[in-house]
Amino acid sequence: MRGGSYQSVHQVSSRLAGLEFLGRRGYDARSRRTPIATRGCLPIMSFDARSSPSDANTTAQLWALAQQVLPGGVNSPVRSFKSVGGDPFFVERGEGAWLVDTEGRRYVDYIMSWGPLVLGHAHPVITEALQAQLQRGTSYGAPTAAEVEMAERLVRMVPGLEMVRLVNSGTEATMSALRVARGYTGRSRFLKFTGCYHGHADPFLVAAGSGVATLGLPNSPGVPEEAVRDTALLPFNDLDQVRSLFQERGEEFAAIILEPVMGNAGLIPPEPGFLEGLREVASEYGAVLIFDEVMTGFRVARGGAQERYGVTPDLTTLGKVIGGGLPVGAFGGRREIMEQVAPVGPVYQAGTLSGNPLATAAGNAQLAWLEENDPWPQWEAYGTELVEGMLEALTEAGIPASGRVLGSMWGVFFHPGPVRSFEEAQEADTQRFAAFHREMLHRGVFLAPSPFEAGFLSIMHGREELDLTLSVARKAAKVVGNGRAL
Ligand code: PMP
Repeated sequence: MRGGSYQSVHQVSSRLAGLEFLGRRGYDARSRRTPIATRGCLPIMSFDARSSPSDANTTAQLWALAQQVLPGGVNSPVRSFKSVGGDPFFVERGEGAWLVDTEGRRYVDYIMSWGPLVLGHAHPVITEALQAQLQRGTSYGAPTAAEVEMAERLVRMVPGLEMVRLVNSGTEATMSALRVARGYTGRSRFLKFTGCYHGHADPFLVAAGSGVATLGLPNSPGVPEEAVRDTALLPFNDLDQVRSLFQERGEEFAAIILEPVMGNAGLIPPEPGFLEGLREVASEYGAVLIFDEVMTGFRVARGGAQERYGVTPDLTTLGKVIGGGLPVGAFGGRREIMEQVAPVGPVYQAGTLSGNPLATAAGNAQLAWLEENDPWPQWEAYGTELVEGMLEALTEAGIPASGRVLGSMWGVFFHPGPVRSFEEAQEADTQRFAAFHREMLHRGVFLAPSPFEAGFLSIMHGREELDLTLSVARKAAKVVGNGRAL
């Protein structure tokens, strides 16, 4: 229905403009290099008191309006809080490790835009690079030096890259990498692992298998069966099943694609030997090994999971993390394979906004920072204290839990562990997680609104954020353990 009785965005935001937001602060230029553990942090607000009814109306109004004009009120499904209950808040701005909503509430943010913001929100390294580029235009559709610089940086930093092509999202990167692998091998079938997410292109949208290789069935209406006919599925970390599948039909496979560390089913690292075994199988049967490092690139180590585990894939896909919050992605790998890509080769791939100057400005700035600094040890120290503290709080409250930290990614399962696959992750207590999520949010800590997502750190997460998170986690765990959650 058009022209209904709901308020327009203009009406709602005019009301918001009158609100006084809390805790504005500028960044010290030195913060670019200050170690995370010693950086000054934002004042801690109390979240135990509920906001006034008139404030609550603004979120409610925006949410009501959003649901009228956006499917489910959002532009990407997980933002809708469907798996944790409650309604999402609306972001007014980000500041370092914090989000501020349209009602002035502040949250320690462990999502960081689902990975890209390694420097935190609105870091001057990024905002200044963007401001400088903005004066010179937003898009040219012709080559720029910044694209070459970004490609060079990626090749220098990620072991498996000899050549790259920049695209606009992780989805574009994975669908293009698969096309190149198919073009290069002249084969169609490919193997993916249950629980690994590779974006929303048709061939990857296949229901989790039952633990045996199977012809894929689409798990979204609109994906034709033909589109996933060549998708084979196996459980993560089960090398024996990969070996037997390839012994039977290895010559039919164009590619093996995986998240080398699963981040879309919670955080699940590869078992020792799994990545090495896949490397051997792919090489033996002439299949292209694709590491989807859209999440893990620059997060689990500077050169991604391939650097951390010492296994080099033939192709790598990268995404959000290389753009500092701008829409970007990339795929690349061995020169021989990448030279299949048009215009040097016959495999077509193109994009009007690919290598966009704003994305390359932000991307180069962030990548340069990551080349010159070494935040990974501090991230692991923060993450270890965070996960250990959360597990202690949950265990004390009688909630079995397990967790992991890898670089700036972390994850806690409401499951005693070990969790080695999506199938095992699904045994987690999702209802208690949902209650815990609501309790944490209510007290000012924003965790990913799904039991099957990794958490992300930035260099702006420091001692005060950590202490606040753990004190809130103890309260939240107690309430959930007592069965008195929101
Ligand atoms: N691959 C992986 C491993 C991802 O985590 C994601 C997104 N979370 C994608 C691909 C798709 O990226 P995008 O959302 O940018 O299309």
